[in-house]
Amino acid sequence: MEVDTEIRARWVLPVAPDETVALPHYSVIVNDARILDVLPSQEASEKYSPKELVDRSKSIVLPGLINAHTHSGMSIMRGRADDQPLLEWLHNIWPIEGAVACEEEFCEDGALLAAAEMIRGGVTCFSDMYFFPDAGAKAAIRAGMRAVIGIVFLMFPSGYAASLEDYLRKGEEIRKHFKDEPLIHFTYAPHAPYTVPPSTWMQLKALSKENSVPIHTHLHETKDECTSSRVLDRTNPACHLSDEMCHPLEDLNRKGILGPNFVGAHMVHLTDEEIDICAEKGVHVAHCPTSNAKLASGFCRIDKLLRAGVNVALGTDSACSNNSLDMIAEMKMAALVAKNVAGDPTVMPAYMALRMATINGAKAFGIDHITGSLEVGKSADLISIDIETHPGNFPVYDPHSAVVYAASREDVEDVMIAGKFVLKEKTHCTLDLHDVLRRADYWRTRINKQFPLN
Ligand SMILES: [Zn+2]
Ligand SMILES: [Zn+2]
Repeated sequence: MEVDTEIRARWVLPVAPDETVALPHYSVIVNDARILDVLPSQEASEKYSPKELVDRSKSIVLPGLINAHTHSGMSIMRGRADDQPLLEWLHNIWPIEGAVACEEEFCEDGALLAAAEMIRGGVTCFSDMYFFPDAGAKAAIRAGMRAVIGIVFLMFPSGYAASLEDYLRKGEEIRKHFKDEPLIHFTYAPHAPYTVPPSTWMQLKALSKENSVPIHTHLHETKDECTSSRVLDRTNPACHLSDEMCHPLEDLNRKGILGPNFVGAHMVHLTDEEIDICAEKGVHVAHCPTSNAKLASGFCRIDKLLRAGVNVALGTDSACSNNSLDMIAEMKMAALVAKNVAGDPTVMPAYMALRMATINGAKAFGIDHITGSLEVGKSADLISIDIETHPGNFPVYDPHSAVVYAASREDVEDVMIAGKFVLKEKTHCTLDLHDVLRRADYWRTRINKQFPLN
């Protein structure tokens, strides 16, 4: 049978249905943008005649990584406000955003930079939340990336929208505009309970149900957010806008907003009871351990969440709080943090970290029937990681361990999304990298002129 592509691997890690499985000397057969077969390479050569045979018999082939939480437009501000607590950080970033993120080109150029970085690091899908969601969508389409675009909501006016009604009107227009784009998916993305009022939350609860669009928000990121909301300390900018004296998660639960269509980013500060609520309601968590560690927000109790049966996905957060959109590094960080929070090295083995960075992300955003694993019928969203060139990857006993604990994003050699190579042999196929960097440099110069560094 003639097919489009055979990728012949040393190892294939399908991730689902069983995340512990590693298939030696297997091939992935791609036809019409989908995975047609995953089978031993020897059988593949008898059964299929591919138009293109990609020999990766010294590499590991796995599903593309899914960055479950990022703000792509912010990539241009990478390194502008480091080593500060979250609220101080926000107050350094917001004026710059007010001056430049009010322009759609800034957001699109930032998203292009983010896309180029993520593709180079094996990310095939990202869940985005930023001003001008159409800029993120356009950049993703240009890059050939899958994206879950957040229809953002904030109580503050911005260059993008003048009021909450305007955020909604523009967001729904964007959603309609891109509805036939196969790589573009959506969430409603109210920024946080301390920046979005209860009336909007109730509106989004109804819209989420009506349109089957998940809600994605920042939740319980800092201790301040919980303690100030519990006593309604309005002098604290992290205090939720609800009039209920309780934790924001409890408030959202009372409002009936928590469910399988809800993704909470961070969820660092959770009581045992709140973890049970998340499990009961089928809430998803977008865990961002590097961002949390950099802002000293604390460590999410991943072991408890996993044991309660909560679906935990993995995200980098923005280039301002990480400072890289490196999902391979994030997997290692997640595993190390989980082990240390639990005081138990058996917590979150390498294959579990990979599961969080792939199928769990797809599940969180309701696209696990499309992507997130190397299963027959799914979109061919996959990557290969070279384990032969760098001595730091030698030798390989367990390919899951090699990917999570030893490899770096520099070792990613190919990235395929919907059957199309967007990176091949470490070279971008869809983006002009020189142009992407030149655009980012233009904005860096402008920001430095307007906001000189001391
Ligand atoms: Zn975030
Ligand atoms: Zn393994």
